[in-house]
Amino acid sequence: MEKHMDVKGLLILYTGHGKGKTTAAFGMAFRAMGRGWRVAVVQYIKGKWMTGERLFSAKQELLDLFVMGEGFTWESADLSRDQAAAEAAWAKTAALISAGDHPLVILDEITYAIHYGWLALDEVRAVLKERPAHVTVVLTGRHAPRELLDDADLVTEMQAIKHPYAQGIPAQVGVDY
Ligand code: ATP
Ligand code: MG
Repeated sequence: MEKHMDVKGLLILYTGHGKGKTTAAFGMAFRAMGRGWRVAVVQYIKGKWMTGERLFSAKQELLDLFVMGEGFTWESADLSRDQAAAEAAWAKTAALISAGDHPLVILDEITYAIHYGWLALDEVRAVLKERPAHVTVVLTGRHAPRELLDDADLVTEMQAIKHPYAQGIPAQVGVDY
């Protein structure tokens, strides 16, 4: 592993309605792994879907991917199950961050879990704030609360100028998942 202890860990937030939030985070993972860093990804949504990033991650020695409990999806009608799944993912996340073994930790779509009230914003902020100094955390997702924008060192809002969805082109394998 190239030296990462000298790198100042950042809190990075990719939000907004345009496409590119999750893929920007995975682009950072690609870069970090090239430097020999271990990367952790916790996916807070899409638990039910097989995605290209999940298939790829399974083959990467440096990448540890955790997908939230099955059933944590848009379609789920069982809110208490969603809440429990989010809390379990958060417990895993907090342990990963404080352990400091992964200089890059990606919390994909975590903003939804906060937005829907499954995670306590104050608790999330506290764990992020107290993370080891060399750990960079990337948060992705729409509807990021103002407090996370305030806390972050870097915020990029993806703006949807055009999306093929508007032409009736649905999400496509290899491009969107
Ligand atoms: P990606 O994973 O491709 O980087 P994202 O993380 O920015 O996208 P999400 O909000 O997580 O986007 O949305 C997930 C899915 O919704 C993706 O398949 C993406 O292509 C699609 N999507 C993103 N932006 C738009 C949009 N403006 N209109 C319609 N669909 C969108
Ligand atoms: Mg996304």
